[in-house]
Amino acid sequence: MRKKEGPVEVPWVVLKFGGTSVASLAAWRTIAREAAGRARDHRVLVVCSALAGVTDRLEHAVAAARSGDHGADLAAIRAAHAELAAAAGLDPAGPVLEPLRAVLDEAERLLQGVWLTGEAPPRLVARVLAAGELAATRLGVAVLAPLGVEARWLDARQLLESAPRPLDPDERRYLEAAVLPVQAPERLAAAAGDARVALTQGFIARTPDGDTCLLGRGGSDTSASLLAALAGAETLEIWTDVPGLFTADPREVPAARLIRSVGYREARELASLGAKVLHPPCLDPAARHRIPVTIRCTPHPEMAGTRIEGESEAQPAVTAVTCRRGGTLLSLATVTMWDTPGFLARFFAPFEELGISVDLIGTSEAAISVTLDSLPGGVEGRVFKRLLAGLEELGEVRVIHPCAVVSIVGRRIRATLGEIAPALTAFQERPVHLISNSAEDLNLSFVVDEDEGTPLVRRLHDLLFAARGDDPRLGPTWERLRGPPAPAPAAPWWERRRGELLALEADGRPRYVYDLATVRERARRLRERLPSVGRLYYSMKANPHPAILAALHAEGFGIECVSIQEVEAARERLGAGAPLLFTPNFCPVEEYAGAAARGAELTVDGPQLCQDAPALVRGRGVAVRLDPGWGAGHHEKVRTGGPGSKFGLPPEELGALRAAVEAAGGHVVGLHAHLGSGILEPAAWPALARLLASLAAAAGDGLEWIDLGGGLGVPERPGQPELDLDAVEAGLAPIAAALPGIELRLEPGRYVVAEAGVLLVPVTQVRRKSGTVFVGVATGMNSLIRPALYGAWHPIVNLSRHPAAPDLFAQVVGPICESGDVLGRDRWLATPATGDVLLIGNAGAYGHAMASSYNLRPPAEEVVLS
Ligand code: ADP
Ligand code: ASP
Ligand code: MG
Repeated sequence: MRKKEGPVEVPWVVLKFGGTSVASLAAWRTIAREAAGRARDHRVLVVCSALAGVTDRLEHAVAAARSGDHGADLAAIRAAHAELAAAAGLDPAGPVLEPLRAVLDEAERLLQGVWLTGEAPPRLVARVLAAGELAATRLGVAVLAPLGVEARWLDARQLLESAPRPLDPDERRYLEAAVLPVQAPERLAAAAGDARVALTQGFIARTPDGDTCLLGRGGSDTSASLLAALAGAETLEIWTDVPGLFTADPREVPAARLIRSVGYREARELASLGAKVLHPPCLDPAARHRIPVTIRCTPHPEMAGTRIEGESEAQPAVTAVTCRRGGTLLSLATVTMWDTPGFLARFFAPFEELGISVDLIGTSEAAISVTLDSLPGGVEGRVFKRLLAGLEELGEVRVIHPCAVVSIVGRRIRATLGEIAPALTAFQERPVHLISNSAEDLNLSFVVDEDEGTPLVRRLHDLLFAARGDDPRLGPTWERLRGPPAPAPAAPWWERRRGELLALEADGRPRYVYDLATVRERARRLRERLPSVGRLYYSMKANPHPAILAALHAEGFGIECVSIQEVEAARERLGAGAPLLFTPNFCPVEEYAGAAARGAELTVDGPQLCQDAPALVRGRGVAVRLDPGWGAGHHEKVRTGGPGSKFGLPPEELGALRAAVEAAGGHVVGLHAHLGSGILEPAAWPALARLLASLAAAAGDGLEWIDLGGGLGVPERPGQPELDLDAVEAGLAPIAAALPGIELRLEPGRYVVAEAGVLLVPVTQVRRKSGTVFVGVATGMNSLIRPALYGAWHPIVNLSRHPAAPDLFAQVVGPICESGDVLGRDRWLATPATGDVLLIGNAGAYGHAMASSYNLRPPAEEVVLS
C-alpha cells in the first residue's frame, strides 16, 4: 500500500532472513546485495533471526543456569558472533561491536539471576531468548556497513505489541504471544526516519505492560509478516536455507519437488502440518493485507522460490506430504455417556479451563480421540496432569506419546481418494491410531507412533509423487536443485583400486567386485568396539560368497544360517570346526534334522519341532527366537518384529514353549531376537538386550546365551551418520555385566560386507526422452533388486571419468522389461559415453545374494580382490 507524499511515499518491502541465513559472511553478502538492490526503488526492512543454533543454546543455558552451568553455552554464543565479526573484518573487541557485547552481557546477567534465585519465570526466559535476535541485528548492522549498506537498527519491541490476554498462562503470554496484524506505516516511518534500509529482529515483541515477549519458536517468519502488514509492504520475502516450499521436507525426501506457487490457505495448512520452513501463523497477516509472500534461498539467490498469494485453485489436488512430531494422542472411552447429549461439551470443558488447544479430533458415540500438539509444560507437566484428572471423571483415558501426525495435504482431498488409494499401502503393518480429514477438506491425517513418521513420509511421497511428471504447479526436485553433492570425505577402497577395477571391465561385462580387506576391517572393528559381545555370527544371507565366509571364519566369526542349503554350504566351505547357528522361519522339519546332523545349534520360534520331531530336541539345548513386539530397519519388508511379522514367539508364550522343550527332553540354551535390517539407531540393541535379559529367568537354568540378532546398518546416503558402535557398547556393557556367565551374541551381515562390494556396470546408451536423461547400463534389477524392491539408494559414480565433477542429472536404468528397473533415480554423474563403467557402491550386501535371471539375463558375475 503506497503512502501519499514525502519520503514515506516509497513503498516498503520486507526481507526476512532465518538462522542459517544470518550465520555466515557469505549470507550477509547476499543480504547486502538484495537490500541494496531493492533500496533503489523501495524502502527495505530486513528482519533477522538469531544466528543458527543460538536460540537453542540460550534455551539450554536457561536450564543449565539453575545449577550455574550456563558458562559453556554463553561462551559458544559469544564465539559464534566473534567468528562472524572477524570474518567480516571487524574487531570483536572494538567500539563498533559495543552494542553487541552489551546484549550478551545483559543475557549473562539474567542467567546469573536464574542461578542465584533458582527460578526462571517465563517473563525472564523471554528476555534471555530475545538476546539471540538482538545480538544478530546489532552485529548485522556492523557487518553491512563495510558491505556498502547503511542500515538503521530498529527495536522490534517498538513496532509490535502483543494482544492483551490476561487469562493466558505466563508461558503463553511471554513465550508464545500473539500480535494482532495492524496496518500502521506511520509507526514504522517514525522509527525508521529517513533510512532507506532498516534492520530489526524477528521473534520478539512487547507486551502491553512493556515487557519483552516472544512469538513462539520459529516465530521470526510471523514477525516479518506482521511487520509487512504494519508497513503495508508491497511484498514479503522469507529467505531460508531451501529454495521454497516442497512437496515434503527436502531434507528427509530428496525427491521432494518444488511447489512453484500456492494460495495462502493451502500454504498455511502445510505450515501448520509440519512444513517447518514457515511458522504456522505467519501467513495470516500477509493474507489479510493481500501481501504476496515469496520463499527464497539465501545460498541460491538466483532461484525463483515459491510464490504464495491469492486463493488456491478449485480443482482437487494433492500438494504435499507433511509430518509433525512430538504430539500427544489422548482417547477417552465411556459406556455410561453413550449417546448422552452434551458429552462433547463436558469433554472439552477441562481443555478450555486449562488453555489447551486440540488439533485433530475423531469421535463416536462412546469414544473420542484428540491430538494435542502444543502442551504447556509437556506431558510431565502440571497442566497435563490436571487435564487427565478432569477427563478421568468421564471415562477411561488412554495416552499415546510421542506420536507423529503424517498428513496428505492439498485441495478437496476427498475428491482425490481414488488417486490416493494405492499410496495407502504405505500404512501396511503400521498401526494408525487415528485418521482425520479436515473439515475444510485440505488434509487427510494419520496419527502414528513417532518413529514411524519419517519412513511413512518417504514411502507416501514416493507413491504419490513419483509419477507426477509434468505438473505445471511443481518444479524440479530438491536433489536436482541443490546440484551435485560434494565429494565424499573419506576415500573408499575402490578409489584406490580404480585402475584394477577398470582393467577388469575391459571385456564390458557387469561384475560384482568384493574387497576382502574391507570385510576384515569391518569384522575387526566390530570385535574391538563391542567387547561386551561374546561372539559374533556372520549372517551369511547377506553375501554367501565362499571367500567372504572363509575370511570371516578366520576373523573368529560363527555363521548364522537361515536354510539347510546355507548350513550345508557353510559346513562344506569351513569344515567341522565352524560354529553354525540355524535360525530358520517356517521351514520344513526335515531342515532341522539336516542342520542338527551338521552340528548347527537350533533356534525355534514355536512348539512344532517339539511336537513333530521330539527326538531332535531330546538331550539338546535349543534356542528360542522371540518377537520383541517391535521391529526396526530401513524398510517395512525387512522389519522382523512386531505383531504383524511372521517371526518369533510372543514373550508371554516362552513358559509354554520351554515346557514343551523340556517335555521333549531338551532345555532352553539361548534366547534370540532380531529387529530387522539396516538399523542406525544405537539404542536398538540395548533395548532388545534389556527385554531378553528380563526373560532370562523364564528360560530356565540351562540358559547360556542371548542373541540380539543383526540389523547393524551402514549409512545409505552421503552425510548420513554411521552407526555409533561406541554408543551400542555403552548401552550393552551394563546389561552384559548384570548377566554373568551368559554370552551376548550379535549377527551382523550387511555391516561387514555392504561397503566392501561394488557393482560395475558398463553404459549401453545415453538418451534424452521428453526432457529426462536416461543412462542405460548392461544389467539392472536382475543383478541388484534393492532399489526396485525397497526404494534403496546406492551411490553411483562414473568410474571411467572419476574424479571428474558430476555435471549430468539422469536416471540410471537397466535393460529389464519392467519400469521398476531403475538402479538410481535423479543422479548427478560425470556425463558418460557408451562403454564407460559406472560404479554402484554399497553393493556387497544383498546384491548378488538376491540376484535372479529374470528375462533370462544372467546376473553380474562375482570377483574377489584379496
Ligand atoms: P529458518 O532458520 O530460515 O527460519 P527453518 O529451519 O525454520 O529455517 O526452516 C527451513 C527448513 O524447513 C528446511 O531446512 C527444511 O528442512 C524444513 N522443511 C520442512 N518441511 C518443508 C517443506 N515442505 N518445504 C520446505 N522446507 C521444509
Ligand atoms: N530464533 C528463533 C528460533 O530459533 C526464531 C526464529 O528463528 O524464527 O526459534
Ligand atoms: Mg524458521
